[in-house]
Amino acid sequence: MEKKNIDWENLSFSYQAIDQRYVADYADGAWQPGHLSSDPMITMSECAGVLQYSQSVFEGLKAYTTKDGHIVCFRPDLNAERMYNSALRMEMPPYPKNLFVEGVRKVVEANTAWVPPYGSGATLYLRPYMFGISPVIGVAPARDYQFRIFGTPVGPYFKGGVKPIIVKVSDFDRAAPRGTGHIKAGLNYAMSMHAIVTAHQEGFAENIYLDAATRTKVEETGGANILFVDGDNTLVVPKSDTILPSITRRSLVYVAEHYLNMKVDERPVYWDEVTGHKFKECGLCGTAAVISPIGRINDHGTIIDFPSGMEEIGPVMKKLRETLLGIQMGEIEAPEGWIFQIV
Ligand SMILES: *Cc1c(COP(=O)(O)O)cnc(C)c1O
Repeated sequence: MEKKNIDWENLSFSYQAIDQRYVADYADGAWQPGHLSSDPMITMSECAGVLQYSQSVFEGLKAYTTKDGHIVCFRPDLNAERMYNSALRMEMPPYPKNLFVEGVRKVVEANTAWVPPYGSGATLYLRPYMFGISPVIGVAPARDYQFRIFGTPVGPYFKGGVKPIIVKVSDFDRAAPRGTGHIKAGLNYAMSMHAIVTAHQEGFAENIYLDAATRTKVEETGGANILFVDGDNTLVVPKSDTILPSITRRSLVYVAEHYLNMKVDERPVYWDEVTGHKFKECGLCGTAAVISPIGRINDHGTIIDFPSGMEEIGPVMKKLRETLLGIQMGEIEAPEGWIFQIV
């Protein structure tokens, strides 16, 4: 397959319509057979449930080329499962998990020309999502839904080397106790826009959110989980019912325990442990960056500097990041079932 003529290394993280996307409708009380479509536009009622009451959930994963030339996705079954759970919480009919994974396969197979070559650092980012499409005016779940998967090529997250970032502790809250923090719903992002725009205006890369109930515990950022390394080189992973279950985080925990022989401690992490300089390294994790190191946190003028500094990623985060990337790229043997081969 002839690749598209794209400067892969210099792509940004932005949307570009590609040849084919996957579309399935929920109508007459059942999911109808899905199909590929060359049409990037959606036509729907002005009163569609998603437009009125934000009934939508989504996922994010990447297709990429491994060292031996295969096109693969990383653990799409976990995206299928997470979206299934997100839909249930939103009173939406969950999309069958096997059909989700088949949809991923179909979109990637139909767009192999858009999958960046091995070594470019770029990937084909895949965005599965579903939303209420039938008219809703009295507050209620929609009757009909649409499930879609599109892809868009995106460049390497870090151009010119991994660089630590500076983040702030947010004045706003992300997720209420017993709310929707644990599901991947657009509504969680809608209400974080003001916080992230404010943080960017102040010169910060991201917001760290504390738990909304007590503001004493570390939760996550707007779109990534947080990891710490303590003085004993233990990976410390904040645990809370209102944190989104990141697939990257769960994979890194496995890598730490089974590949790097590290101790992992998943537990509530108190903010005063962070201000008390208990941790040597800190990082954000998610599909796009794998790990993005945090060099400094600003808590309303109180500066917490990590010993790993602002020049480079700390040694433990570096090892974790490189090992997971090596597994993803086929340079290190993967645990059973992690690499979903499409081509
Ligand atoms: C998607 C997301 C993450 C990262 O999850 P991955 O599966 O690792 O990409 C973390 N936090 C939030 C709030 C998210 O929406």
